[in-house]
Amino acid sequence: MSGSIPQDFIREIVDTTDIVSLIDGYLPLKRKGKDHWGICPFCDDGKNPSFSVSEQKQFFYCFKCRATGNVIGFLQSHQGFDFVESVEALASKAGLEVPYESSQAPNKERDPLLECMKAACEIFEKNLSENDSAEKTRKYIRQDRKISPEICKKYSIGYSLNSWDSLNEELKKKGFTEEILIKAGLAKKNKEAKLYDVFRDRLMFPIKDRKGRVVGFGGRVMNPDDQPKYLNTGDTPIFQKGKELYGLYEALEVRKDLNKLFVVEGYMDTVAMSEHGLRNSVATLGIATNRFHVQKLLQLTSEIIFCFDGDDAGRGAAWGALKNVLPAVVDGTEIKFLFLPEGEDPASLLEKESVEDFKKRIDEAKLLSEYFIEKLTQTFDVTSLEKKASLASKAMGHLSSMQESSIKKLLESEVSNITGLDKDDIRTHSQSSSYQRKSPRFKKEISETKEERVFQQTGLGSKILNVILAYPFLASEIKDLERFMGFKEPEVRLMVEVIQYFISDPKLGISDLLSNIDPDSASFIGTLISTSPIIEEKNAAAYLEDCLSLLKKSDSISRILELKEIYQTDGLSDDETFELQQHLLSNIDKLEEPERKLLKDLSQKAN
Ligand SMILES: [Zn+2]
Repeated sequence: MSGSIPQDFIREIVDTTDIVSLIDGYLPLKRKGKDHWGICPFCDDGKNPSFSVSEQKQFFYCFKCRATGNVIGFLQSHQGFDFVESVEALASKAGLEVPYESSQAPNKERDPLLECMKAACEIFEKNLSENDSAEKTRKYIRQDRKISPEICKKYSIGYSLNSWDSLNEELKKKGFTEEILIKAGLAKKNKEAKLYDVFRDRLMFPIKDRKGRVVGFGGRVMNPDDQPKYLNTGDTPIFQKGKELYGLYEALEVRKDLNKLFVVEGYMDTVAMSEHGLRNSVATLGIATNRFHVQKLLQLTSEIIFCFDGDDAGRGAAWGALKNVLPAVVDGTEIKFLFLPEGEDPASLLEKESVEDFKKRIDEAKLLSEYFIEKLTQTFDVTSLEKKASLASKAMGHLSSMQESSIKKLLESEVSNITGLDKDDIRTHSQSSSYQRKSPRFKKEISETKEERVFQQTGLGSKILNVILAYPFLASEIKDLERFMGFKEPEVRLMVEVIQYFISDPKLGISDLLSNIDPDSASFIGTLISTSPIIEEKNAAAYLEDCLSLLKKSDSISRILELKEIYQTDGLSDDETFELQQHLLSNIDKLEEPERKLLKDLSQKAN
């Protein structure tokens, strides 16, 4: 989980960061009672703040969408950082250097590559603004595409000279080795082992990671005879095409606009939209929108508008995107599809029409549900009975990939209306087989379970959990934890997991716990902490003991039945014999004649 960052350092950085000031830097918080409150960035909680931040316990919790976590969890969910990036961000805020463990040191390899890309980007930018041979390209970008110098600068757009070695010669002069140039995807070797530049005579679009570091390039040909029209950096240790989105860093710089994000097909579309004040668009790098993209985007915004060319390729791409979007849709997400006229893309349209006209098109974008139904009915002629059945089965296939949500219910009713099939039948068939999640924003770290769990807040397991969460030091006083391992109730299982967690390191706190368990459990714990009454410390140990003993008893009867069956089939081990005796004895008043006889048999066997 923590890669090569020492655990101690992670602890230190979590302990030294104050969650209230961290979150307050992203959204305004107001103190009310002992906690701080704000409008939840993860759901639409209207004007009444549901998002609470506990200074004392160092975690956040939304009473509406149940999002919860510690400082690392907040950066992961709000900024879309991964674990290591979150630790790095906190360290840099605290003015600390992350002490990577030397054996792995991923940055040892990454650093020179990032340095090299940065240097290449500067060279390309300088070429575009100063080099005589870039005149045609300057004219293309400024006059033909009407992109201002400001936007060129914002996106660090550049030009690669029409030369086989000018870039690599210049980078070598700056101290970068041939090996680095090749690894970074900037140069290759020919048959004579001579180094040559990969990008030549191209308009260069640097692809930046979430921190603004250049990790790859997309290059557009300037000579129409050259192929391919767009050339991207291949996968390198710092760049994977399927995982990056062009323009995301620039869009994040204006975070306030991120109530929605446009997904477009080309670099120039993103740049042109930004030129016209639509600064929140990202482009997939010449590939179809994949699930990774969708997840990444939904971590940052709840509204995504996909823009597609109006031709067949665009429509094909749209359906592909829709299929990847469905599993990520939860209540509160809004996904739209915008189809442009045939032969047009956002950049070409913005050259022809006003931004107001373009915005009108955006307003008319189709909702995911509209597009889904329209597409299905177009594909299937719904006049014949067979076709209706076929439509329903196809639709169910797609719906089953969705999490339970009101959009899913709406789609099910729509499919029912069109096909005339019973809503309940459609529901049964489209029941999500996957593990339900309330929100796609929270990553699982430790446990992975396929079962659908419903935590009971009033159950004994929850009561015990509540005491342990308030007083984690009590965990180590529970001696017979194994006794509860066989319980099936989700809250008891979680209780065991949490107790084990605190036993493993008594220094750990709730904020550590929340970032180390699966999202549903974290949400449930957040709910418990935020809504259950707190037992006074002086009564906590006794209360815990009472609950534990009640819990043991609650399970006695079912355990007796279970052990009895083993006794009759495979026979009991000595431990099991002892356990069954104990259960029977503790329920002696309630025992019927067969159980009394069994107890006698067991005692004789034991002797
Ligand atoms: Zn919320």
